[in-house]
Amino acid sequence: MSRPEVFTAQIGGLRVKFIAPGPAPEDAPAAVREGIIRRRIMYATGQCPCGATLSLRLPNRAERRRLQQLGQVPVVHVVIDHSEGCPAIEEHLHSAVRRWRAEQGRGGA
Ligand SMILES: [Zn+2]
Repeated sequence: MSRPEVFTAQIGGLRVKFIAPGPAPEDAPAAVREGIIRRRIMYATGQCPCGATLSLRLPNRAERRRLQQLGQVPVVHVVIDHSEGCPAIEEHLHSAVRRWRAEQGRGGA
């Protein structure tokens, strides 16, 4: 699997960094490739090809101020409501990767 990549976006006046999967390996099965490609599209554009949009659950102003005083960076929770059957859904992508690894004889994750 390739290394994760960081995407940076300006959202609501904040600079937000997303950690997204690296490019899909050429030899990966279609379900793995499609899931990874959709996730990369989603982080780059804010929208999945299934129609889901990416929304953020930001810490409130007081919490952000508190973290800033501690010299910490707030963690933003991403909320994505993929359509049923979308290969970018966490469980779908993970099980596709597990099946692929099992086929390669490396065992599960
Ligand atoms: Zn999707």
